[in-house]
Amino acid sequence: MEKTGTVYLVGAGPGDPELLTLRAVRLLRAARLVVHDGLVDPEILTLAHPHARFVSVAKRRSKHTLPQEEINALLVREALAGRDVVRLKGGDPFIFGRGGEEAEACRAAGVPVEVVPGISAANGAAAAAQIPLTHRDRSSIVSFVAGQCKGLTDQDWTGLAGKGRTLVIYMGVKTAPLIAEKLMADGLAPDVPVAVVENAARADMRVLRAALAGLPELVKRGKVKSPALIIIGDVTAQDDSTLARIATEAHA
Ligand code: SAH
Repeated sequence: MEKTGTVYLVGAGPGDPELLTLRAVRLLRAARLVVHDGLVDPEILTLAHPHARFVSVAKRRSKHTLPQEEINALLVREALAGRDVVRLKGGDPFIFGRGGEEAEACRAAGVPVEVVPGISAANGAAAAAQIPLTHRDRSSIVSFVAGQCKGLTDQDWTGLAGKGRTLVIYMGVKTAPLIAEKLMADGLAPDVPVAVVENAARADMRVLRAALAGLPELVKRGKVKSPALIIIGDVTAQDDSTLARIATEAHA
């Protein structure tokens, strides 16, 4: 019988190949089978072994080419056939990456699985746009939430955004108007500063800023496209007058 292969759930980071871990690069160089999703930059795929076989399971909002169960089954089948599999995911496998489901499927089938962390979009965007997610004067709490449609209005976000807090929203481009409405209904001030970071850590990155009330207009007028993150809180403010206001309030 073939020796069972290992499934490596590897974080590919937000785009720039320089942001891969050494472990990710090492695994890619040795890989004979790479199963990747749509968010992985093509340049990163060129790092794989010259004889590597690529399987794209392009996972983008409302464009699932392979249902999750079939991805799980594919990973398990290949490993049981004796092949190591590099399952390459955008950002970090365990932040909105369904890595948990894939790891469970592997464990249930007796397939060894290793998780290699990646730089999540929030960390990549924060660094590239120079928006600190925490700051001694401005924020000591940071939350990551999923802004896609399913159950959005039922999710309890109270207390996640506001004074001294940073809220990072993944997958929120389409639902930006709903999100702004939801947060303001929860009592968040309409003038809380917001930044939208599109294509973070990529050559075509854009950073757009507005106040919370202007978020829907910003996304619409700016023609913001996925992948983008919405960051809400005083850490996103950059112009001097806003920073002066925050500083005054902080020391009041
Ligand atoms: N596991 C990934 C997240 C996958 S969910 C991670 O840890 O980053 C997909 C969402 O991530 C996108 O809708 C977008 O909100 C965000 N995202 C991924 N890459 C991004 C990038 N380069 N710039 C901005 N947002 C990004």
